Order: sequence, then structure tokens, then C-alpha cells
Amino acid sequence: LLEFDHIDKYFGDTHVLKQVSLDIEDGEVCVVVGPSGSGKSTLLRCANRLEEIQAGEIRLDGQSISDPDGDINRLRQRIGMVFQSFNLFPHKTALENVTLAPRKVRGIGKEQARSRAEELLEDVGLLGQANSYPNQLSGGQQQRVAIARALAMDPKVMLFDEVTSALDPELVGEVLGVMRGLAEDGMTMMVVTHEMGFAREVGDRVVLMDEGRVVEIGAPESFFENPQTERGERFLSKIL
Ligand code: ATP
Ligand code: MG
Repeated sequence: LLEFDHIDKYFGDTHVLKQVSLDIEDGEVCVVVGPSGSGKSTLLRCANRLEEIQAGEIRLDGQSISDPDGDINRLRQRIGMVFQSFNLFPHKTALENVTLAPRKVRGIGKEQARSRAEELLEDVGLLGQANSYPNQLSGGQQQRVAIARALAMDPKVMLFDEVTSALDPELVGEVLGVMRGLAEDGMTMMVVTHEMGFAREVGDRVVLMDEGRVVEIGAPESFFENPQTERGERFLSKIL
């Protein structure tokens, strides 16, 4: 569904993604792991064109989405992204945060946007907080609103970049729980995370990146129990 085809990304002279190829299947949860600076965030950011690539192609449903002349708004409706920092609009309520993009970008009517937002807030367990402002919510609640906001565009794929890394440990579970529910509903997801429990239980495949390359791809059981590369072994010996 989402294909990275031999992509190269440079920041100036620094080569940060090197001939990366990866094909995320419809309904798949692909967990991306690897050391700091290996290019995980950059890979996700290239997928929704927060960064442009210098070579190769990225395709969604067989259509190129990496063409610099392509419609970026349309692309971002189809690929939702959630970051480590929640980035909610501080002067808007949870409900308004979720309805804003559908109304402005998709031109959906007020009542329709509202009822869809209420459904989404209910799905993430926050219907009771619909009228709260971000500073009245915990980090875990804010992150769940951010997920509902991304889902409000009905994306085909969701990208998650270390969405639990800024949270207090006791709030991590509620966010991972929402992501697990999405996975069970069949959402196609690319998830950068340090939560190896999540990778093992929810991931369909684990991708290990190192120095801008994909160095190993495998099912979680085989990756964690029996890594195929020396690099994979070394990575696991540090984190497990
Ligand atoms: P982390 O686990 O720390 O989040 P990462 O795997 O997400 O790391 P990236 O943020 O993708 O790594 O960074 C990959 C490389 O690209 C690093 O060497 C980083 O310094 C470099 N880099 C990232 N963003 C920029 C930028 N805007 N300008 C220049 N270099 C950048
Ligand atoms: Mg990163």
C-alpha cells in the first residue's frame, strides 16, 4: 500500500537515507526501530513530504506521492501523522482540534464534522473531555486527541513517531492501547517506537534501521528471538 522504492535523502552533504526500499502492506503494522540518528523520523517525514527525497519514489496505492509537484494537502489527507510532541492548538478545545482540518481542508459541514469528532473522541476514550482545552488534559489525553485529530481525515495510513516518548510512564499504556485498537481495526500503520513490548505484540513486521539503511526486516518473533544479522543482534543486546 505504501511503497518506498530505493529512496535517497540528503541534508546538504549528509546522506541520511540510503537506497531505502520498503513495502507496507494494506492493514499491516510495521514497527521501525534503530539507534538514534539512523533515519527513522526522516523516513516517516518523507512519506508525508515534510521532507523531500532526492532519488527514488514513494507510492501510495501504486501512485507516486513523492513528486514535488504533487498536491501536498491531498497527500496529507491520506497519510496521517502523530509526533512525539502533541502539537494541539492550545486555544481550541479537544473537539475543535479534531473538527478543524475536516472543516477547513475538506469542507465538511459543522454538524457532520462534530458528530464524527465525537465518535473519534469516544474511540480514544475522551468524549467526556470534548470541551477541555489542551492545558486541562494530561499528556496521554493530549496525545489521544492528537490521534483522533489525525484520524478525522480518514487517512489510509497512519505514521507514529515516538508518540509515547514524552509521556510519564503511567500514561504510556493508554496511548499504546489506542494504537493497538486501531491496529485491530485494520489500520495500516508505520510506528517508530522504543516500546519493544508493543513491537512484539502488535507489530506484523519489525524494520531495523542503521545509518540510513534498512538492515533487517522480519516478523517480531524471529527478529527478537533470532535476529538474522550481526547488527540486529547488537541492537537487541543493547535494548533487551
Ligand atoms: P532518533 O531516534 O534520535 O529520533 P532518528 O532515527 O529519528 O533518531 P533522524 O531524526 O531521522 O534519526 O535523523 C537522521 C540523520 O539526519 C541524523 O544524522 C540527523 O542529524 C540528520 N538530520 C535530521 N534532520 C535534519 C535536518 N533538518 N537538517 C540536517 N540534518 C538532519
Ligand atoms: Mg526520530
